[in-house]
Amino acid sequence: MVLVLVEHRQGEIRDITFEMLTKAAELADETDSKVSAVLLTDDADGFIDELKPWADEILLHEDPKYEFFNSDVYEQALVDIIADKTPDLIMIGHSAQGMELAPSLASETDIPLVTSVIDMWWEDGELVSERQIYGGKVNSEVRYNKKDPYMVTVQAASFEAEEAPNLDGSIIEIDPSIDDSKVFKKFLEYVEPEAGEVDITASEILISIGRGIGEEDNLDIIEELAEAVGGDISGSRPVIDNGWLPDDRQVGQSGKTVTPKLYLAIGISGASQHIIGMKGSETIVAINKDPDAPIFEVADYGIVDDLFDIVPKLTETIKEEYQ
Ligand SMILES: Cc1cc2nc3c(=O)[nH]c(=O)nc-3n(C[C@H](O)[C@H](O)[C@H](O)COP(=O)(O)OP(=O)(O)OC[C@H]3O[C@@H](n4cnc5c(N)ncnc54)[C@H](O)[C@@H]3O)c2cc1C
Repeated sequence: MVLVLVEHRQGEIRDITFEMLTKAAELADETDSKVSAVLLTDDADGFIDELKPWADEILLHEDPKYEFFNSDVYEQALVDIIADKTPDLIMIGHSAQGMELAPSLASETDIPLVTSVIDMWWEDGELVSERQIYGGKVNSEVRYNKKDPYMVTVQAASFEAEEAPNLDGSIIEIDPSIDDSKVFKKFLEYVEPEAGEVDITASEILISIGRGIGEEDNLDIIEELAEAVGGDISGSRPVIDNGWLPDDRQVGQSGKTVTPKLYLAIGISGASQHIIGMKGSETIVAINKDPDAPIFEVADYGIVDDLFDIVPKLTETIKEEYQ
């Protein structure tokens, strides 16, 4: 059994859940096993229909204790569930919630944990996980000392969750024990980030700039292009660190994950920490003067040239053709 912890927040199942369930279905298929989604919530109503096509079974514990995520409560529930169900593999999102929960759960259950996993597969019946090291410059394959079971936290956007595998999961109500005297944390409140004028996660066209833009004053040509194509502007981390764009426009591992119809990467080298945030875009076009820039490995179309030559010409052509 591959057990996936359903991550939800403020009434919405997070994308990472479906990404994990997609991979879980593949891994379970290869070992003739099944996918179990663990749903811990105070109100399952809205979630069940959404989850059913993605899992063979939904292990449901509905309890007011889950109104807000609390890793102490989740950990106790999962310790019980793991002991009872003896899964082969436990998958948890490498999110703020998962990072808080998984290490302590692994220690409590004595299960080997590999964090921030971007891929995994069975090899001779044993799990191998791939994760990035040295700030994403090298990928490492990790084998475990013991099997039965394994635990991983999964990096967002590592797996595509395009179509549900139509599994029609059965609902199994469970009742793990939770001892209130062992709950040491208390949820206080959600602190929402101030709403920026643009939500790049909802943009259909993103004109994304990198360090190659040189300086803030050069943003003019990008703004003109964005206006011509009706897109929003985002950027790589150095652009944000330099204060050329606001924080909420950063794409990547420590920024946002975006999935626009068109992602135009201008003067961005394509570091793995950037790629992880934009590789789910429908069409990727890159402009970079370095033909060996890694961004071209994920781009559908590439222009090897100086952005200061190309961008104004592109804007002009778009204006002539489409306006
Ligand atoms: C823990 C961690 C988290 C990180 N999180 C993120 C993140 O969320 N998002 C992110 O983006 N990065 C992140 N980074 C940083 C990341 O490793 C890279 O340093 C960063 O993405 C590089 O940004 P860049 O491509 O804009 O700059 P560079 O790597 O400097 O690339 C600039 C590119 O512009 C090209 N160029 C220069 N001049 C021109 C020109 N005139 N015309 C055309 N092309 C030109 C160059 O050929 C080069 O490829 C993170 C790093 C760490 C360690």
